[in-house]
This record gives sequence, C-alpha cells and structure tokens, in this order.
Amino acid sequence: MMLSKYSFGIGDRFAHQGVAQLRAIVEAKALGADVVPVWNKSNREHLIVHTHPDSVRAEADAAVKALGWKGPYHVDADHIGLKTVDSFINASDFFTLDVADFAGQASPEAEIQDFVARYRRYATTLAIPGIERALTVSQQDVTDIAKKYLLAVREAGAIYRHVEAAKGRDRFITEVSMDETDKPQTPVELLFILAAIADQKIPAQTIAPKFTGRFNKGVDYVGDVVQFEKEFNEDLAVIAFAIREFGLPANLKLSVHSGSDKFSIYGPIARAVRKHGAGVHVKTAGTTWLEEVAGLALAGGDALTMAQEIYEKAHGRMEDLCKPYAAVIDIDRAMLPEPKTVRGWSGTEYAAALRHDQKCPAYNRHFRQLVHVGFKVAAEMGSAYYQALDAHADVIGRLVTENLLEKHIKPLFVQR
Ligand SMILES: [Zn+2]
Repeated sequence: MMLSKYSFGIGDRFAHQGVAQLRAIVEAKALGADVVPVWNKSNREHLIVHTHPDSVRAEADAAVKALGWKGPYHVDADHIGLKTVDSFINASDFFTLDVADFAGQASPEAEIQDFVARYRRYATTLAIPGIERALTVSQQDVTDIAKKYLLAVREAGAIYRHVEAAKGRDRFITEVSMDETDKPQTPVELLFILAAIADQKIPAQTIAPKFTGRFNKGVDYVGDVVQFEKEFNEDLAVIAFAIREFGLPANLKLSVHSGSDKFSIYGPIARAVRKHGAGVHVKTAGTTWLEEVAGLALAGGDALTMAQEIYEKAHGRMEDLCKPYAAVIDIDRAMLPEPKTVRGWSGTEYAAALRHDQKCPAYNRHFRQLVHVGFKVAAEMGSAYYQALDAHADVIGRLVTENLLEKHIKPLFVQR
C-alpha cells in the first residue's frame, strides 16, 4: 500500500465532521491539488472522548460514500505503541509508531558499536546533494546518535513487526514519529535515524521528526521561520539521500505533526516541497473541534450557552486539562477572559476571539488554546454535545470546510 505524494491528516475528535472535512479535499481537487485524506486519531484522544478506533473507519467510509470520493483515503492509528496498537489493527491501514518515549535510552553497548562500525563511512565531511554546506560528522557524533536513538528505532521495529504479523505485509502504511521528544532532531540525526530504520527493515513511508521551534496546539508556529525553512530543506535533502543510500521506500516523506494553524511556515513548507520534488504529510486534529465550538457560538441560543459553558468549565479545570498537553501549549492566564465576561459575549464576539484570524483584533490565542484542550469538557457533556452538533451541522460544517480549505490546504497544496 502506497501513500500518495501529498496527504493531509484530518483528525476529528467527535467523529461528526468527516463529510465537511472531505468536502475541503474535494474542493481542493477541483482547484488542481491532489491531496489524500487521512483520518487520524490517537489512543489519548480515544480515551478522553470514549471512542473505539473502529469508529474512525466508520466515519471515513461514510464520508467517502456520502461524497462519492473515488480517490485513496486512509485511517491512521496515530501515536500508537506496542501496548496500545491492538485495538487499532482492524480499523487502520496507516500506523504511526510513536517511539519518542524510548529516545534517550541507551541500547546495549555492543549494538551501539555494531551500528557505528556499519555507518562509520558516513563519519566524514558529507556532501549531500541539495545541501549547500558540507555536513561534518565525527565518529563520536555517530556514537552519540546511536546512543540516543537506536533503542527507540528498535522499538519501532518491534511495533512494525507486530502490525505486519496481524495485517500482512504491504497491507498498511508505516510512519515513524519522534515529534514528542524534548529536543528537535538535526538533519544529521535524521540521517542516522533513517539508517537505523533501514536496519530494522521498517518500510517507513513517512517520518515525523521534531522540528525546530514550538508547535503549540491550534495556534501559529513560534520560532525562527528562517531557521525552520533551512532545516526543513536539509531534512528533505537528507531523506532523498537516505532513500538511495539505505534502500528505504522511494516515497518516504516528512510528516508534520501538530500541523494545523502553523500559517507562518506553510509558505516555506510548500516552497521546499516543490523545490525538492518531495511529498509531504501534514496532520491536523484539534482545529476541527475548535470550528465546532465556533459554530455552536455562531448558532446562538442554547448552542452559544453551551460554548460559553465549555469555556467556563475548562477555565475552572485548567491544570487538569493542560497537563497532558503541557509541552505543546503556552497559555498566559492573565490574557484569559473571565468566564462571566464570556457569558456576556454574543456568538460573533465568541467566534471572533476563538477563530484563528491573526488580523482580527478580537482574536485571543490564549482563549483558543484553552478551548483546544477543553474537548474533554465537551466529551463529558455526552449526548447533549452530540445533539448540538447534529442540530447545527450546517453552520459548523461550513466553518470546518472553510478552515481546512482556505487556511490549510490552499497555502500548502494549491499552486498559485
Ligand atoms: Zn505527533
């Protein structure tokens, strides 16, 4: 099973926006951009929302049927490990092997020495086509990288073989993710991680490194955009080199996690991908949930009250809600509106504070991030929340499609 050149992850926490999401992909196709939709949902999201991985397959199949989509589409078991993968086996044909927790744990010394012996030939001044500067790599660098990542890649190998035994070879797409580590990986680290992936015979079609800068949930990139563009270009060059040197799948490409709303790096990503003739996968999830809340607010009446209640409850439980996302959110409490202020807002005011329009003076990224992690509150509302989604499906659906198409897919994938 081959993943196409351009693919887009469309996570949907409450599984009600599949059609609205796919509509954005259909409209992109009419504009000349072939993008493959991938519905992703992590074990963490399933636990919080109380859903089973089979529901993601059902949602994807139903959306594809409703819109008569003839192209490929996939269901991604996002961020799974050996302990969590089993319930995803049936529903998924895309597996994101998360081994970030193993990064930094050292392998047995003999394995490290063996790896260094195999790849010593790259401990030199490396001229990689597409990278202007020469990369200077010492044998000590190779040893350090092996110490840091070999065990993690071994674990990825174990998960891959577990899935392969259950589903059969070539019946699924494999991604290796290391984005949830504390430090970004350099292009040189990526090169040796790819060597280790090849050693483990993992037919990875996507790799998700941690990039430089902050990828906070639901808000724009925070960091040095020039440095990001340089590293992203170097990563693409390293991947092309690794495909040839190590015999990895020819369509291996980068995957950008927490990829929604990173508007300031979409231009650099689109430029780099075209320059190198490379593909790319961009994952989004929570951005769709935020459009649901904005839609409820705009619908007014009881739906607006529900949106206000979600904020109020999230505000009261900030610590608890932020904890699992501590590394990927940045909320300044002083910038958050009081819940009673929000109670007085009109639907338009609520949506203006929430929706990601940096030109709008009412936009509040602290408010947005808190609502982002507040999906647990909506999950606890249970059927009342789902009924509101059904009752206001039209207004919400329009926002979901517009957000994905105009703010994400067009700048990333549509040639201007
Ligand atoms: Zn991730």
